[in-house]
Amino acid sequence: MRKILVAGNWKMNGSNAMAKELASAVANGFNSSSSVEMAVFPPFPYLNAVAEASAGTALQFGAQDVNENQAGAHTGETSAAMLVDLQCQMVLVGHSERRANYGDSDARVADKFAAALSAGLLPVLCIGESLEEREGGETEAVISRQLDAVLAKTGIDGFAKAVLAYEPVWAIGTGKTASPEQAQEIHAFIRDKLSALDGIIAGQLRILYGGSVKGSNAAELFAQTDIDGGLIGGASLTAEDFLAIYNAVA
Ligand code: PEP
Repeated sequence: MRKILVAGNWKMNGSNAMAKELASAVANGFNSSSSVEMAVFPPFPYLNAVAEASAGTALQFGAQDVNENQAGAHTGETSAAMLVDLQCQMVLVGHSERRANYGDSDARVADKFAAALSAGLLPVLCIGESLEEREGGETEAVISRQLDAVLAKTGIDGFAKAVLAYEPVWAIGTGKTASPEQAQEIHAFIRDKLSALDGIIAGQLRILYGGSVKGSNAAELFAQTDIDGGLIGGASLTAEDFLAIYNAVA
């Protein structure tokens, strides 16, 4: 059985005090023995605060991005080894905001995914189509292209120690959630595509849904056969809203 993962992407929000308080409230607000895991992705400067607040609890955490290089002349960037040094267990790669605004091409995302794996981090690979692509009937082609770039770099074996997050861009931060059926259709497409390469890896892979998930819609979404949790933006910024998602599914 795949364990549900409820993961919160704080994006560029918060402060040191907020990071400590929120991480601590989340860490102490869920039961580590349930079949649901929880993780948060704070901004880089607050990783240490979250490490301290979550020490000794089951709350996992990671960064929102990672550089694909190991070290050297990359001013302003952060390597996978540095994230491990800060006790991160995971890292987001290819979030749509980075793909759209910060030069994360499919190839670069694949390099970041591989860098995370080599350092022993669990990459959470974000994929998804824009509204224009969906309306143009290109959803499956876009998802395939995004997956193929990573497959070309790491092969299917790369997905044995990774998590996928299907995030239709039109549903992120818009309040428009994909219906459980719409999301399930794409999750099944993703699992089928990867199953053709390795049925065991694809069967064990967790595929999260992201896009305006809240306490009120989480249970129905996560009840779908191929939806194994959620990547949550807005509703991860207060412990009450984030734990409501946990409580809806635990
Ligand atoms: C996200 O940022 O990955 C996200 C899904 O945001 P929201 O939940 O606010 O739509």
